[in-house]
Amino acid sequence: MTWPADLVDALLPARCLACGESSSTSTNPRRSFCATCDEQLEPSSTSPSAFLYVGPLATVIRRAKYGRDVAVARGLARWWHQRIVVDATASPAAVVADAVTFVPAHWTRRLRRGFDLPALLASSLALPSVPLVDLLVARRRDPRLAEAASKEERASIVAGRFELRAPETIAALAEKRVFVVDDVRTTGATLNEACRVLERGGVIPVPMPLAITPLVNAPLKE
Ligand SMILES: [Zn+2]
Repeated sequence: MTWPADLVDALLPARCLACGESSSTSTNPRRSFCATCDEQLEPSSTSPSAFLYVGPLATVIRRAKYGRDVAVARGLARWWHQRIVVDATASPAAVVADAVTFVPAHWTRRLRRGFDLPALLASSLALPSVPLVDLLVARRRDPRLAEAASKEERASIVAGRFELRAPETIAALAEKRVFVVDDVRTTGATLNEACRVLERGGVIPVPMPLAITPLVNAPLKE
């Protein structure tokens, strides 16, 4: 028998996702960031949804993705939902959309990790009025992307990477705003390409990265 994931998470002791410290000081009773790590999270100045890919957030994203830790990934998704959906509802600057989708990983990568972090993050942002829609398929992997030095080089590598799926869903979303969730935006080449393909399909893409690398010329990791 397998337990529902949310139930298992609820039964776990409240611990900081980044440092493992008991997060009794956190306002969120579930797994989240402790007050010390929370203070080190740096909201991005360029995207209302994003934080800089540094410190505790980078630690947690790496643990979720490369450590293939689905419990940490779920905790991260829940924390992001709290920060940008629940907290933002009260804000007049809240960004609104009609649906939420994500930048998909190639199926071989998803198979290796066991889950797709952008998909999990996107599902945490979905609401009854803002459904999760699976609109893109990654046609191929781009192993050269990690070595690509320039923004132009990355843009040319990702061109043609995504295709539209579910034409009826796309048609129903014509002229509607759709959040396009990604976990880490480096130069923006991948997220821009996903948005470009969606735009061609007639929807209005709204990029929603969780994290943004602070320096474009920093070591690239996809
Ligand atoms: Zn912590």
